[in-house]
Amino acid sequence: MKKIFLLLALLLVFVEPAEAKKDKTTPEQKGLQTINVATAKAHVEFLASDWLKGREAGTEWGHIAGEYLVSVLKLMGATPLMEDGFVQHFDAYSAYNDKTRTYHVAPAKVRQIKTNPHRVAHMRNILAKIDGKNPDEIVVIGAHYDHLGYDPMLAEDQIYNGADDNASGVQAVLQILKAFLSTGMQPEHTVIFALWDGEECGLCGSKYFVNNFADIKKVKGYMNFDMIGRNNMEHRPQQLKYLYLAKDSIYATWLKEDIEKYSLGLDPDFHPSDDLSGGSDQVPFFNAGASVVWYHTDGHADYHKPSDHAERINWEKMVDITKAAFLCMWKMANNPF
Ligand SMILES: [Zn+2]
Repeated sequence: MKKIFLLLALLLVFVEPAEAKKDKTTPEQKGLQTINVATAKAHVEFLASDWLKGREAGTEWGHIAGEYLVSVLKLMGATPLMEDGFVQHFDAYSAYNDKTRTYHVAPAKVRQIKTNPHRVAHMRNILAKIDGKNPDEIVVIGAHYDHLGYDPMLAEDQIYNGADDNASGVQAVLQILKAFLSTGMQPEHTVIFALWDGEECGLCGSKYFVNNFADIKKVKGYMNFDMIGRNNMEHRPQQLKYLYLAKDSIYATWLKEDIEKYSLGLDPDFHPSDDLSGGSDQVPFFNAGASVVWYHTDGHADYHKPSDHAERINWEKMVDITKAAFLCMWKMANNPF
């Protein structure tokens, strides 16, 4: 009897590694397996809840949103970009008579604003990284987490929940970071995962980062998400607006191949362009000369209204965009520029 147990034990010892060797799961497949609707809902439903009162940059609700993101990064075991943690603190300034309430971070403009009565908002980018084998080439993936706050004078719904704009993009950055970590592989290039503050009032977070990041010349590529959760056309629920520089048509090739290979439910409109200097956080990266790609599901009736609610999100499409973006970022992080 003892011999039989010994035999069984020996079999287990030798069979186990053989089983492990049979595991042909690629790093991409390992990453993809971690991206799902349940995780998307967990992030979006919290960030777009009434409790966060619209996450306006510089307010305590904006700071609570930032603290939530820091907690998520810690739970994942992510590495902070800065030596002292995930939070990059900065102040942004707006002139007292600026009716658009646009905030600025460029030093010359700030000096000028400070000569008169002005507003100041304390903002916080949340930044993580995965060190690459070749740290001289960096790619950045980002989405803004701030939104428009709330308006106590509104007669009915007073809170701008910002589920599509841009909790949808935030969940993508968080899920893609988790997917990268799940591959168990170190990428070729360093990857920075960025959650920007103050986009809605002047692209403050992304501008501050680009102006102050010592290694900005090493940043070769930037991937942006701003609103990836809604349907612009009822008859095309899988539609996606895919924007990239015309010289980088490889992004279109990759997306077509990945939709086919991984059966993603996406129907992209390709928008190659020579000028991506408007609209969202890709602007300062475009101006700094990085290769830019961004995902967007276009405008809709709830854009910048209190009705941008989580229950209106097309979860399946948003998660398939997140998967496509992971596959693209994986290639950006591992191929030469
Ligand atoms: Zn936005």
